[in-house]
Amino acid sequence: MATYVFGHKIPDSDSIVGAIALSYLKNQLGEECIPARQGAISAETQFILDKFDGELPLLKTSVAGENVYIVDSTDKIHFQDDIDEATILGIFDHHKLGDLTTSTPLEMWVRPVGCSNTIIKEVYDYHGVKIPKNIAGMMMCAILSDTVIFKSPTCTKIDTKAVKELAQICGIEDYKKIGMDMFIAKSQVDGASARSLNKRDYKAFDMNGQQVGINQLEMVDISVLDPRIDELMQDMKALKEEEGLHTMIVLLTDIMKEGSMLLTVSDDTSKIESAFDLKLHNSRVWMDGVLSRKKQIIPFLQPQF
Ligand code: MG
Ligand code: MG
Ligand code: MG
Repeated sequence: MATYVFGHKIPDSDSIVGAIALSYLKNQLGEECIPARQGAISAETQFILDKFDGELPLLKTSVAGENVYIVDSTDKIHFQDDIDEATILGIFDHHKLGDLTTSTPLEMWVRPVGCSNTIIKEVYDYHGVKIPKNIAGMMMCAILSDTVIFKSPTCTKIDTKAVKELAQICGIEDYKKIGMDMFIAKSQVDGASARSLNKRDYKAFDMNGQQVGINQLEMVDISVLDPRIDELMQDMKALKEEEGLHTMIVLLTDIMKEGSMLLTVSDDTSKIESAFDLKLHNSRVWMDGVLSRKKQIIPFLQPQF
């Protein structure tokens, strides 16, 4: 029986490349694995697959009765509705520990680094398995994406070292240039509906029984969205109702200015103001230096619930 490998819902590049890279490694180690995904891929991930000849993982929205490896989250809410009926053989993640549990012992590689692919690179090294050129290129890009080209506070020395080694394997000298091209691809908003923008990198979080939705748009220049802020906020209101959220947040992250514009629709905006010790104006506020949802938003918001 083959084992499926996948990351979180609304997959990002780390989730997709992690599925590809870990499947290859496991196959080399004699375990039959199939890379999978839970939804459509982003323009950024398409850029990576095109550049390095990557194959689109299989769409897998139900996993009851299957063996699975999980990458890039341990929050149940980020997985298939029937994830409880799957056997989780292992987890490879770099987030806070979530609420997934297992009934059998499992392999676990969970570490506070900038990207799941950094961990997967270490697992390759641990087993002494050679990383193919094209997979090295994809892993390099996934790390550059998650660490915002090393600018994110989540980035560690282990991540930069991994990128340098992967760049060498895939024969790319100017990896920062590829990183920038990737973020330009990611920044495309022309023709995108407000809903598709609000869901582009959307994650729901269960905060003590309250649902909080947080989307992040990482862009080279967020000012191109200035004329569309009201439209985005209108749709955030609708999304909040539809999903039964307590709070919906959109972070417009400017990777050049190195900060984020936080937009919110909430049943209680004072929770956001006290979490970050700031005042909202027009339901929005600029947060200088904030690049990471995982490290600079969630840990401050969670205790408010
Ligand atoms: Mg991710
Ligand atoms: Mg990640
Ligand atoms: Mg990300």
